[in-house]
Amino acid sequence: MSKPFYVTTAIDYSNGDPHLGHALEKVGADVIARWHRLQGHPVHFVMGMDEHAQKVLQAAEAADTTPQQWVDRMSARFEQAWQVLECSHDDWMRTTQPRHAEGVKALIARIQARHPDAFYEGEYEGLYCVGCEEFKSESQVVDGRCVEHPSRDLVPTRERNTFFRLSAWRDEVLRRITSGELVVAPDIRRNEILRVLEGGLIDISVSRSRLPWGIPFPGTDDQTVYVWFEALMNYVSATGFPEADWESLWPADVHVVGKGITRFHCCIWPAILLAAGLPLPRAVWAHGYVQWDGAKVSKSEGTGVSLADAINRHGPDALRYFLLREIGFTADGDFSFDRFDAVYASELADGVGNLASRVLAMVVKYRDGIVPSGDADPGLSDGIRAAAAHYRQAMDATEFKRALEELGSLVRVANAFITTAAPWTLAKTGDDVALDRALRALSEAVLVIGVMMAPFMPEKSAALLAALGRDGTPAWRDADAPDLGGARVAKPDNLFPKDPPAAA
Ligand SMILES: [Zn+2]
Repeated sequence: MSKPFYVTTAIDYSNGDPHLGHALEKVGADVIARWHRLQGHPVHFVMGMDEHAQKVLQAAEAADTTPQQWVDRMSARFEQAWQVLECSHDDWMRTTQPRHAEGVKALIARIQARHPDAFYEGEYEGLYCVGCEEFKSESQVVDGRCVEHPSRDLVPTRERNTFFRLSAWRDEVLRRITSGELVVAPDIRRNEILRVLEGGLIDISVSRSRLPWGIPFPGTDDQTVYVWFEALMNYVSATGFPEADWESLWPADVHVVGKGITRFHCCIWPAILLAAGLPLPRAVWAHGYVQWDGAKVSKSEGTGVSLADAINRHGPDALRYFLLREIGFTADGDFSFDRFDAVYASELADGVGNLASRVLAMVVKYRDGIVPSGDADPGLSDGIRAAAAHYRQAMDATEFKRALEELGSLVRVANAFITTAAPWTLAKTGDDVALDRALRALSEAVLVIGVMMAPFMPEKSAALLAALGRDGTPAWRDADAPDLGGARVAKPDNLFPKDPPAAA
């Protein structure tokens, strides 16, 4: 079997509840995973939790519980949220799991064995952001505050700990990104990273003293591995490293992360892997942020909309669609319920849902639910072919907004075809050949739309495909070469009811 397409999301800090900002990333990564499965590729999709942060300790203390009980509770809450949002992960990685500690120790030992000078003792003094769990450089501080966490105080910190010689790997990391061996996308993020690398990398502190909640740093007796340094390693420890077989998954095909943590994934992480002599991931995809009234949605900053409210508004499929249609997976975008309601009504209820029910009702009415076997009307089937090809290009480029525009344009093309072909007139005048050709083409347009929906709206797609007699796993070949001649179809349930579903 070929190596599975290995896709990861960032692992989230377990100090607060999951929110819409997290949801965009998980849903987008899930769409990537489902897009590959749709094409018949084996996929390994990993999500998880980053559980050793200092702010996790603080949250546990504030809640009067132990850190382990706290992270157990948060892990369950996050995983449940992603299940409701239909995330199809194959593995749930938690950095408090023994397999992660084993992977981290083995990776550090491997670096020490290959490059004895990779780590050294040093003293660090700087401004520490507990929100980011990192020391901030001057360019990351505005008005004495971390740009990512303007509501938190930066903590002046001085300690003696272990450093990683990150500076030694600058040239090689730069070369790998410039050559495209490590793809950083979209372009705006690649350019940012190239500027960071051109400015040079400074060595980083990778251990913490006096912080008992963490993985002991090999070779020290009072230090734990700096949370960011070990969190990055989850992508390798999730493969089972260093046990046999881990290479059947590694390297990752794409790490999906937010734009705020690209330096970790495109500078530090490649340097760790180079020092350990391991292959680099093939790509890092950095998405933008969900904004609410122009501000980043993030619970820690006190702005935001409840994830449960967003899910309950029109159901999980509609939220998945709206996030990637409206905000997209590249730049920042605004979330508002007014816009969500408008897009739901026009694109899903009056668009996809209405087209599907019109077409299938006509097949039931004029042909007893059997799609005619003759040729499809080329006036529509050419448009179907073009839309499928454009959709595929957009999906391969992780351009989800454009892919969903193609879906919407196929809905419009099919509706326009209905108006022109006027099947009810063909039925009245007894033009059976023309009616057969029109119904076959329209049924196949609905089939292709159902397949295009599969990565984004798995449940609605399955319901629509079942109405077309396509049960089970959706397959791209149904969009590439739709063939419904002779198939028995049924009128689907109302896919996108106008009345919002009752709160779950
Ligand atoms: Zn910060």
